[in-house]
Amino acid sequence: MQHVPDIAAPALDIDKIRKDFPLLQEKVYGKPLVYLDNSATTQKPQVVLDTLERYYKHYNSNVHRGVHHLSQVASEEYEAARHIIAGFINAAHSEEVIFTKGTTDSINLIANVFGRGVIKPGDEVIVSAMEHHSNIVPWQIMCEDRGAVLKVIPMDENGELMMSEYTKLLSDKTRIVSVAYVSNSLGTVNPVREIIAQAHARNIPVMLDAAQAVQHMPLDVQELDVDFIAFSGHKLYGPTGIGILYGKREWLDKLPPYQGGGDMIKTVTFAKTTYNVLPFKYEAGTPDISGAIGLGAAVKYVQEIGIEHIHAYEEQLVQYAVEQLSTVEGLRFIGNPKHRSGAISFLVDTIHPYDLGELLDKQGVAIRTGHHCAEPVMDFFCIPGTVRASFGMYTNKEDIDRLVVAVNRAAGMLR
Ligand code: PMP
Repeated sequence: MQHVPDIAAPALDIDKIRKDFPLLQEKVYGKPLVYLDNSATTQKPQVVLDTLERYYKHYNSNVHRGVHHLSQVASEEYEAARHIIAGFINAAHSEEVIFTKGTTDSINLIANVFGRGVIKPGDEVIVSAMEHHSNIVPWQIMCEDRGAVLKVIPMDENGELMMSEYTKLLSDKTRIVSVAYVSNSLGTVNPVREIIAQAHARNIPVMLDAAQAVQHMPLDVQELDVDFIAFSGHKLYGPTGIGILYGKREWLDKLPPYQGGGDMIKTVTFAKTTYNVLPFKYEAGTPDISGAIGLGAAVKYVQEIGIEHIHAYEEQLVQYAVEQLSTVEGLRFIGNPKHRSGAISFLVDTIHPYDLGELLDKQGVAIRTGHHCAEPVMDFFCIPGTVRASFGMYTNKEDIDRLVVAVNRAAGMLR
């Protein structure tokens, strides 16, 4: 008999949480939805939807500019959201929290300003073999522009970083290390504390792509002593089009501005422009006001449930999913990391992941197939893609059981 752990962590009332997410009540092809594509995006609780509606119905107005009442309310709510998010990641100062479009935008921002402010020809940037394209391509573009060199920490067959190789890559030429906290394609939780400690021992700053971490585990930027982190609102139960760049004040103060425009300036003349203080220096133009306020509501919702409770619950859920999927004949996991979070990638026999994905969809099970924007990972395993099931705080045991039944049925038809 398969060992079935008790996954009902007492601190989390999953049935109650599920009722907060209207989309989870939807049916697909007449079947109750099993939503297991949370690494791509999460569903939104009613409180976020209400917050967006309240903004547009009652105080839609531009921020930081108007003296009138609506603009003041919008500005207060926008800044209140920044405070909530700063508290959530334990930033020492709320001006270290910059609103961006998302993880991709945040990484592009840092790659760009590092390129212009720090990097010289021959300098090196370190990423890892399991990065999402958005933590590869911005650095490649910058390295090409500046004549710098991109170095890659290799991984092993389990989908874990080879830390001894990382140690060897760090050198006097390294200017920044940028790695995923959690891999979106494999679910690997990387040893970020060790990565940061080794880089800092050489005075090298570290950026973490926390797109797949911040919704699954407590993340304290001061405890980690990380220099920059990036994450997306839409993967954290918030709206699309909004995300966060956290950066230590010492760094953001001395790096050059990114985009030019309204709000990011102190004074402008044709001879010279002076730049605004943080966080406005990095928020040129009208921001996604409703998105920021909506993300604040999402983070507050997560805080009320407790990220540590979500973490404990999901750890058991992932373990349960691994155990149950192991019972499927011919299934092999892609990546077998010791510590996994949020996502499980697999293949069954020689069945193409797209074929499996389509038949799962017809059974109401939404998973993702393909390269998950991590083509180098697929190349490493010599596969065209994987089937990825990914979880959120509302995923329950029944979702996993229905996934396993659906995979067995689909594989039976495709064999
Ligand atoms: N990094 C990782 C690890 C991701 O999973 C994703 C989204 N799949 C991104 C970056 C990019 O996020 P976004 O598209 O929200 O900018």
